[in-house]
Amino acid sequence: MFVPYLFASKDDKEKRSIAESFYEKNLRNRRYSDSQNPEEWCNRYLSNVNGKSYSYKDVVCALPTELMELKEFLDHEHFRSNDDKNDLNSPLEYIKNRLYEDMAQDAMIFLHETVSGKVCPYCNRNYVYVDGRIKGCDFDHYLPKSKYPLFAASFYNLIPACPICNRFKKDELFYFFPHKEYDYDALPHFRVWLKADDYMTNIESIEIEIDCRKCADFEKDINRLKLGTLYKAHRDIVQEVLICKETYSERYLSELAESFERNGLTKERMMEIVYNIPSSPEQFLDKPLSKLRYEVWYMN
Ligand SMILES: [Zn+2]
Repeated sequence: MFVPYLFASKDDKEKRSIAESFYEKNLRNRRYSDSQNPEEWCNRYLSNVNGKSYSYKDVVCALPTELMELKEFLDHEHFRSNDDKNDLNSPLEYIKNRLYEDMAQDAMIFLHETVSGKVCPYCNRNYVYVDGRIKGCDFDHYLPKSKYPLFAASFYNLIPACPICNRFKKDELFYFFPHKEYDYDALPHFRVWLKADDYMTNIESIEIEIDCRKCADFEKDINRLKLGTLYKAHRDIVQEVLICKETYSERYLSELAESFERNGLTKERMMEIVYNIPSSPEQFLDKPLSKLRYEVWYMN
């Protein structure tokens, strides 16, 4: 639940170069009619965004921080009222309805392969997977394309997300942005408590909630995705982790660790294999429900 992509962090130069490859592959050779030309639109309206001018290529390749700057700029500019509506909207409608929709499946695969993570960053419950024949992944527009059509084909605005989250999120603008860097402590966490001692055999004795007391800004997003309700259905996983925690003896574990070491495997690897607990938050996007398992083990 709410796992940002920062953990596979690349620096800005690398991020830009990935976005530029995306542009080269999919959009560089595109020809536009005069009325639809996004370059013209950008020349006209984005020539001075806090002192910087943006071409359409810059908009497609904008880093996450630049995307947010552009969004702020569009939110505050009042150019809309001064221009002919059709003239203004045509390139934006074109980006939203044709450019994005026409991007080949190859573009989607490229995007999927270069953005780290096999699991949806919003729910951490479902795999997101794409190849030439199977599409198990939607692309959420972080800045919704209905409100910000300019960013409909911008690389860092396209978030590989599971179809369930994409459907619930719809056109909502979220506080949580998977490309933003957060302190781990600043993200919402799971809180588990036991109502009775029979929790190993009775799942009804286990309660779970998503704790937003220290990060209320996320609460609206979590409610929108119905994550509180969805995670109640994963009390079996909580129970599994608690049973492992309670029943495996120290002696058994140290014997096991030795055996792993003899085979050239670390204790962290043992944790992953025996308990199914990721050794660090960097691994949360490798397997579904990793954040839940990790937090039940280490934080509850
Ligand atoms: Zn999801």
